[in-house]
Amino acid sequence: MTKVRHVLGISGGKDSAALAIYMHQKYPELDIEYYTCDTGKELDETYQLIENLEIYLGKKIKRLRAAEESTEDPFDHFLEIYGNFIPFASARWCTKSLKLEPFENFIGDDLVVSYVGIRGDENREGYISQKTNIQSIFPFRLNIWSEDVIQKVLAENNLENLTQILQEINSQNNNLNLKPFTNVLLRKKNNNFSQDQKLAQLLGVDTKLFNQLVLNYLKQTNYPLAYDNHFPLATNDDNLVRSDIFQLLEDSGIGIPRYYEPVDFEINGQSVGQYARSRSGCYFCFYQQKIEWVWLYEQHPDLFKKAMKYEEKSTRSWNGDETLAEMIAPERIQSIKEEYLKRLRRKNYNKKSALLLDVLHDTEEEGCASCFI
Ligand code: SF4
Repeated sequence: MTKVRHVLGISGGKDSAALAIYMHQKYPELDIEYYTCDTGKELDETYQLIENLEIYLGKKIKRLRAAEESTEDPFDHFLEIYGNFIPFASARWCTKSLKLEPFENFIGDDLVVSYVGIRGDENREGYISQKTNIQSIFPFRLNIWSEDVIQKVLAENNLENLTQILQEINSQNNNLNLKPFTNVLLRKKNNNFSQDQKLAQLLGVDTKLFNQLVLNYLKQTNYPLAYDNHFPLATNDDNLVRSDIFQLLEDSGIGIPRYYEPVDFEINGQSVGQYARSRSGCYFCFYQQKIEWVWLYEQHPDLFKKAMKYEEKSTRSWNGDETLAEMIAPERIQSIKEEYLKRLRRKNYNKKSALLLDVLHDTEEEGCASCFI
């Protein structure tokens, strides 16, 4: 039988780290290959997290570096190719060249199941490869399947096929109470009953049965799971949210990535609040909030200076609306901090919150799934 590879990408963020721990604990029988796409511009805290995870997993995490033959860091190599034009949200050459291409080269034409750490309390899909040999699975969600699979499974013209598959499953397990499930399955979608509603109801009635139905359907296709004899996640009905992720990290002894830890900051020599970084990724990532740039300036001044150097050579700034040089004028830093404190107050921030989660998480879902999960 064709071998199917199981892979899991570590971005340096909390969710992918927690997913590696979760899969290691819950599905030790899966031979998962762990990898990380290294831009050469991550924070030291991220590299440390990856080393700690290797010890915990007892396995190497493969470092994928774009332009491996280059003497420069991957980011610098491609920056030169792109004429010193620093990336931004709608011209994100960095994700393509430094994350997606090295990943797809690593996979080649092999059949691959790729595990992605999107949580049950998030509303996004993450990276879905255009390559048909790569299938994404989301173990933290009740719905572990990707959008494209769900579209095909729940297509109206697939109903008869599903009914037959269900009968086959039933013939192998007489204890099933199929009626409530079949009632939902056979109900036609319309303006008052969307596909999302149908999916939620099917998962609500019997998640494991739904997963078995999808898995058996996939056996009729060319998806990688058609060629895998054993897929233990078919019996998974977990739904993990943010607090579960932090719990997993703490309980494993890995802990949260250090850049999430809150640090006291001052205005006019007075300690007035705490800040942190909300995500992994390159230290100069254009997705970070202004308070995170101030955090970088005050906590990693050397890296901030390097970010300024990139900006000086480019025709645009990292932020779009103001340069880093403008941002670190003392009165500007003060106003960014004051604005941030106002946001904290608006959100009734409780100073005892260990991770500023209540404040920073509202932008967590923005940005690059390859970099921040
Ligand atoms: S972290 Fe940001 S800058 Fe780095 S590759 Fe990802 S999107 Fe680009």
